[in-house]
Amino acid sequence: MDAAVYYGIKDMRFEEVPTPQINNREVLVKCRAAAICGTDLRIYNYGHSMIPHGTKVILGHELAGEVVKAGDKVDGIKPGMRVLIAPNIGCGKCFQCLQGSFHLCNDYQAIGLPLAGGFAEYVKIPEKAVQQGAVLEIPDDLSFEEAAITEPMACVYNGFERCPAEPGDTVLLFGAGPIGIMHIMMTALAGASRIIVSETNDERLRIAESFGADILINSETGDLEKVVMQETKGKGADLIITACPSQEAQMTAPRLAALHGKINYFGGLPKDASSIHLDTNLIHYKELLITGSHGSNTYHCKKVLDLQASGKIDLKPIVTKKFPLNQIKQAFESALKGQGLKTVLIPGKE
Ligand SMILES: [Zn+2]
Ligand SMILES: [Zn+2]
Repeated sequence: MDAAVYYGIKDMRFEEVPTPQINNREVLVKCRAAAICGTDLRIYNYGHSMIPHGTKVILGHELAGEVVKAGDKVDGIKPGMRVLIAPNIGCGKCFQCLQGSFHLCNDYQAIGLPLAGGFAEYVKIPEKAVQQGAVLEIPDDLSFEEAAITEPMACVYNGFERCPAEPGDTVLLFGAGPIGIMHIMMTALAGASRIIVSETNDERLRIAESFGADILINSETGDLEKVVMQETKGKGADLIITACPSQEAQMTAPRLAALHGKINYFGGLPKDASSIHLDTNLIHYKELLITGSHGSNTYHCKKVLDLQASGKIDLKPIVTKKFPLNQIKQAFESALKGQGLKTVLIPGKE
């Protein structure tokens, strides 16, 4: 089959590899769409500890496709089914897994890293993933591209569960990349009265506005603190989400939070720059709640899929670029430039 194989930093090759074989408890899916994630871009640029030098892997953990084969011991999954894959697989036995938090399992593996992922014609869904319900059927009217980005939205859903917006809240969002836009959708759905977006890229601010952000501020050229305090009559934001890898955003957030405000450090910081200076008296006197969140589990994917199926959330406009799989390099380079929102690869040649 055709696959885009990651060999190392900036070395991605479109080549022929053996089609995966499945046993009687596994499922083979023909990939129809796989989205590029920020994690994939980081791996492309800097490598990853799970990919030792000299090994190679087929990336792609945001994927949807069609079941072509299901082992005879597999229940309820049949060839022809249109599905999306929840990529994170846990051991199934540890405390986190018993809670359904496969993404927090110490032994967790993901389809797309280190297991072969969706940047290929076919992907094998291992037994454990099948057992854990990772193969989710999608409705007929949901495109494969939309289903491929259910997973990143599921990460946003996870963040929302840990740190939700209440009806009437003023939300301050740092970062208007695809994930930031998904946070706009989620908090708007929950009834946020106002969404303030801080970003350094004007193009992305314009996009945020088109998705319903109320107040836009370029934090490089404008005075964010002044705007937030003006807009909230000196009260500050009820919910703050940092959807960008910025120390500055993380340090600013407690200052701009309202009394009893909540903060989610959603975007991680670079490994060598993950310490910040924090005035904890702000947390103390304002009684703030600060949390983080990362990744998603199958339950989060299922919840988002239900929101998509019911039409409450429409992720179609998030997919702004599509490339055939043989143009993987161009696709990655384009995604790296941060133009538009999500880039999706469609197996095939052009
Ligand atoms: Zn991802
Ligand atoms: Zn586990």
